[in-house]
Parts: sequence; structure tokens; C-alpha cells
Amino acid sequence: MDERNGTGGASILIRGARILGGEPADILVRDGLVAEVGHDLEGRPAERPGPELVEIVEAAGLIALPGLVDLHTHLREPGREDAETVETGTRAAALGGYTAVHAMANTDPVADTAGVVEQVWRLGQESGRCDVRPVGAVTVGLQGERLAELGAMADSAARVRVFSDDGKCVSDAVLMRRALEYVKAFDGVVAQHAQEPRLTAGAQMNEGAVSGRLGLTGWPAVAEEAIISRDCLLAAHVGSRLHICHVSTAGSVEIIRWAKSKGWDVTAEVTPHHLLLTDDLVEDSPVGSYNPIYKVNPPLRTRADVMALREALADGTIDCVATDHAPHPVEDKETEWAAAAMGMIGLETALAVVQEAMVETGLLDWAGVAERMSRTPARIGRLAGHGRPIEAGEPANITLYDPSVRAAVDPAGYASKSRNTPYEGLTLPGRVVATFLRGRPTVLDGKLT
Ligand SMILES: [Zn+2]
Repeated sequence: MDERNGTGGASILIRGARILGGEPADILVRDGLVAEVGHDLEGRPAERPGPELVEIVEAAGLIALPGLVDLHTHLREPGREDAETVETGTRAAALGGYTAVHAMANTDPVADTAGVVEQVWRLGQESGRCDVRPVGAVTVGLQGERLAELGAMADSAARVRVFSDDGKCVSDAVLMRRALEYVKAFDGVVAQHAQEPRLTAGAQMNEGAVSGRLGLTGWPAVAEEAIISRDCLLAAHVGSRLHICHVSTAGSVEIIRWAKSKGWDVTAEVTPHHLLLTDDLVEDSPVGSYNPIYKVNPPLRTRADVMALREALADGTIDCVATDHAPHPVEDKETEWAAAAMGMIGLETALAVVQEAMVETGLLDWAGVAERMSRTPARIGRLAGHGRPIEAGEPANITLYDPSVRAAVDPAGYASKSRNTPYEGLTLPGRVVATFLRGRPTVLDGKLT
């Protein structure tokens, strides 16, 4: 998948784009690669031998970023095609500026064998809009009882490198230790959904003042922090790589900061929604109170947590942004709070939310965004051909983004099969104008090609 060459056809000249927010430059794309970066490239045809068709994409004012990479996407196929399919999810990903996503394993059947991960990988290839790298389950059926066929999944055509029981925590310390030891053989990583199950039995939202007032069972920060602490120690003990999914509390940030200070190979992600939204929305929001659109795992936390997460993403304690795009059909979401499914969609709004939370606040520049939404997630996932600089000879995975616009979020036009976005009614900045996967436009002028 990663080493596939370009699709040939016309060369594309992207004119006047600001690469990583820098000075305007032209990007010539040919045969799936960046052929040349410079100025007035169209004025020097002699340097491009042979007759060719050059398609011009005007990009004045647009930021060029390496195609975004998501470490944490729920595509729901196989099993819940009513919520999302690989086809609709990769369309949403392309519209969000993504050129690669990691598809979580909590499908039905669970992606715990070479057969299932290859099925998901093939569906991604067929979609053609975005590379799909399956995540393999850590334990058989996500049951937390015995290890899945990690080696067979790593050796399969899908070349799985990220393993996770996401949706569930690998809470058994012995199993977690074994998984961490096992993945070392093929440079894999265990991505932990840190949620101590006994401390979160029946939990409905962040444990705090708001949950107390609303009478909803609280989800304490310590349930996340206890597992992160344990797993950092385990990873250090066996000398393996650990990745922590969707960090949501200020305390978790402190623990990860400590683990990194020891030199341990621990990485972490934060979701866009945990960078912007807080638990008081459950009590009072533009869409009323007790609206399950805000029900998510891990739960929305407090303002202090949001601020700590932003700082941690800026200073590198948290390595990257991952969407945790979690589509659910209307009937699973538009119901009473206690019965509603947990999760939010996020692929089509991720870059806008990151701009709002991190760029508009001065915490990150565009180079920093590229690092945290493309380069680093590609590195953690060991995904070759993505997260590369926009330079001659590199694969032409490129996102063109207009940061200057601002508009009300309208999910009506989303490509995702689900509509459970928490941002409806909010105004967010930015617009993905174009996405190129190995030189082929998957999105042009903000629309799927
Ligand atoms: Zn999760």
C-alpha cells in the first residue's frame, strides 16, 4: 500500500501555496510524487522534458500540509455498515484532509485475525480515497482473556503495526505485559484505551461538580490515570513501545510527562473534542441539557483539563491529534442519555477544531500542526509514505487548507454516514480545499472528486 507509485496521468501544478504556512511556492506533482518545489515553475517548461498535460490548481492564500494521518478512526465495517463503511469513512477522511487512517479493531467480527484485517485493508484499497491501515485487536474478540494472533496480523498483507482493544481497556496487567513483549518482534505498538473497568462501572460522564448536579454516575479521572501509570511502568519494564489513546485529563498529562522524562518509549494522542469541549455542555449547551451528542468515551472533562491538554500538545508531552471518529446511527444517539451510545464523528472537522483550539490561541503554528496531525502519527504507526515533507522526490500526499474562512458547522453535507457531530451550531474556522493522495486529487474545491 505504502510504496505504490502514482497513478500517472496529468501532472498537477499547485500554484502559490504556503507550505507549512511559509512563503508562497509552487508545487509540481508528477507520477504521484512531488517533482519540484519552487517559484514560477510554469515559466520554465524546458526543465520538464516531453509533452505533458499540466493541470493548474490555484492555491494563493492556502496552506499546504502533508496529508493528514489519523491513528484512531472507527470505520465500523464489517458489522455496523449502518453507522459507517470503509467507503463512506474514507470519503469523510479525504474531505477532512486525511490521506491515511488507522481503522480500529472493534468491528463485528472483531479485527483479531489476519483474515479480518486483510478484509478491511482490501476495502480501503478499493475505496482509493485514503489509505486504510487496520489496527489489530490485542485480545481475541476484545474479551481481554487471551492474546489475538498479533504476529499473523503483523505478517499479513495489512502489515498491522498498531494493536488496540479500543473501546475496551486491556485491564489485565499480565495480558498487557505479554502484548507489550510480543509486539517488539515486529516493531509494533500497543495503543491502550485507558479505562479501569471497575472504577467506571455504569459511568456516564466526567465525575465532578456537573455530574453531581445532574445525578449522573461519575467517570473519575483516576480511572484513566491509574491505567496510564501502570502501563508506562509495564512498557518501561519490558522495554516496549506504548501508545496512549485519547488522553483526557490533566493528571494523565503529568504522568506522561514523567514517563517521557525517564526516556521511556511512550507516546500519546488527544482528540479534537477534548481540546475544545467541556463537561458543562452536558448541563447547558446550544442543544439543551442532557443531550447525548456530548456523550463520549473518555468523557468530556473540565476547562482545566482542556487547558492542560492544549499545553501538553503544544509542548510535545502529547505527541499527536487523533480523531476517535466514532459514527453512530441516529437511533443509537438520539435517545435518553443513559441509553445512548458513546462517541462523536470527527474526521471532517478535526483540522478546523485544531485551528480553533491550537492555532488561533497561538499555541501552535502550521508546522506544528503538520507535525502533530501527519508526521508523528505516521511515525507512531510505522506508516511509510505518509507524514513526509513536501519536497521533491516525496510522495505527493498533500492537503490544501484555507484558514481564513469561518462558518457555521453544517453536517448536512458530510460524507460520513452518521451525523453525531458535537459541533453543530458552532462556528469554526477553516476549510479543506483539496486533498491529494499520491498525486491524485481526492478532493478539489472542497468537494470529493
Ligand atoms: Zn477508545
